[in-house]
Amino acid sequence: MIDAQGYAALDPTTPLAPFSFQRRALGERDVQIEILYCGVCHSDLHTARNEWNNTLYPSVPGHEIVGRVVAVGSAVSGFKVGDIAGVGCLVDSCRNCPSCGEGLEQYCENGFIGTYNGSAFGGSENTLGGYSDTIVVDEKYVLRISHTDNLAAVAPLLCAGITTYSPLRQWKVGPGQKVGVVGLGGLGHMAVKIANAMGAKVVLFTTSPDKKDDALRLGASEVVISKNRAEMASHANSFDFILNTVAAPHDLDAFVNLLKRDATMTLVGAPASPHPSPSVFGLMFKRRRIAGSLIGGIAETQEMLDFCAEHSIVADIEMIRMDEINQAYERMLKSDVKYRFVIDMATLKSA
Ligand code: NAP
Ligand code: ZN
Ligand code: ZN
Repeated sequence: MIDAQGYAALDPTTPLAPFSFQRRALGERDVQIEILYCGVCHSDLHTARNEWNNTLYPSVPGHEIVGRVVAVGSAVSGFKVGDIAGVGCLVDSCRNCPSCGEGLEQYCENGFIGTYNGSAFGGSENTLGGYSDTIVVDEKYVLRISHTDNLAAVAPLLCAGITTYSPLRQWKVGPGQKVGVVGLGGLGHMAVKIANAMGAKVVLFTTSPDKKDDALRLGASEVVISKNRAEMASHANSFDFILNTVAAPHDLDAFVNLLKRDATMTLVGAPASPHPSPSVFGLMFKRRRIAGSLIGGIAETQEMLDFCAEHSIVADIEMIRMDEINQAYERMLKSDVKYRFVIDMATLKSA
């Protein structure tokens, strides 16, 4: 076994605190990574506080992991000691079902193994994530990273990047299209950058008027304050696609009504309680659709990392110390993050 240090939630209400644990011994197909940076996703907060009623404790969150390979098993062929590598939201899956066969491990019919809060195959212990100094992962689920000059800002691509890239690709976003992004947080700001790089005209919907200049700088061509009915009405029936990243329940009809005939709004935000039911009429009369999308598979995550490297896309980050994580969660709840917190894991030793 390999000794590890991290930060864990022990129950839904106590702040995260230092925690010692062990990683599995290096198997022949395993890569051991020294974690340098880990992004802070809103899902980490949902999980630490058991907002989805499925948290296994102790919980070490963190699934936007970048670091340096420090050991490889005897059968590993894709990585060597010293490589910079990444780990995203999943660390294993059944590898046999149709979804796994198609490289869509996030939809594994036997349940993928999350980087945290997953149950390890054959064992009862839950997986522990990236708020820690080291992790051991089968090389099949480890990503290659080529833009290493601003490595901390690459970390959020491992969840926020792929969660937005995958639906933008699935719904074939490209030049000539008008695409809406709802919410300018970690996911939303990546969606703006990526949809812009794919050639779409991007309109950002926000509840925070002070984010307007940032949204334009990030690649939006227009910003709409979603609480302003007149501004919203001026965009009725005009969108080819809308990606909704909001982490709280809200009125979906306000956005459905902005879709063209046959267009889709895809939900990636995962609020702790349900949205009010959308109007059936808003969907029926223009054959509009509401869909969902979950992170992305390993092959697509690699494709996204390569796309972002090619287009010089990284996240806009605020670096924090490990012992600042609890304050970071409070700020995230107030939408006060520009636009992703990333933990400098070198600060863990002194935390
Ligand atoms: P985040 O950084 O906190 O951003 C969420 C944004 O939602 C906020 O910045 C804010 O944007 C908007 N918002 C928050 N409260 C709102 C409210 N009451 N009404 C309207 N808008 C509100 O969170 P994130 O890390 O991007 O994650 C967003 C959600 O996606 C979370 O629920 C997370 O769990 C989920 N998620 C899902 C997947 C997936 O695979 N589907 C993957 C990762 C994360 P404005 O200030 O611009 O309004
Ligand atoms: Zn995430
Ligand atoms: Zn499977």
